[in-house]
Amino acid sequence: MSDNKYAVAGPNFQDYITCPYDSAHRIRPSRFTLHLICCSKNFPSSKKVRCPFNTAHVHSVFVMKDHVAECPDRSLLERYKLPDMLPPVEPRQTGFLIETDEDWDAEPPVATYDPQAYCERTFVIRNPQGNPPAARRAFRKRENKRFTGKDGS
Ligand SMILES: [Zn+2]
Ligand SMILES: [Zn+2]
Repeated sequence: MSDNKYAVAGPNFQDYITCPYDSAHRIRPSRFTLHLICCSKNFPSSKKVRCPFNTAHVHSVFVMKDHVAECPDRSLLERYKLPDMLPPVEPRQTGFLIETDEDWDAEPPVATYDPQAYCERTFVIRNPQGNPPAARRAFRKRENKRFTGKDGS
């Protein structure tokens, strides 16, 4: 018990969130994001990564690969940020389909892409907002490669 101020369980104990870095940490939801930022610095070797759609989602890189595709906050965030660019119900590609070798949507405006260096700099997953399904698939594939260091099958 290092923090007796909050060690008293009380009626709201179940509202406390267990820290993904150290299960001994119990954090109030209002402080959870802040705690994660601080705590991640204490566990630099944990290889935990934060979900780009909700910083309170922290998983190992292997779990995160699947999580980003299924994160419940993903669609919420995308619709919030890009309401006009998202198809209302079905893809709006009717009558306007350009065939080209260049996939402008596939890459965010990043200079040279170096998976190794990028991986060492950060484990935060880039956000594939507004991309069409094909580009999202390509994105996931690239992310898999980036996290595992090899091509996903
Ligand atoms: Zn913690
Ligand atoms: Zn998430």
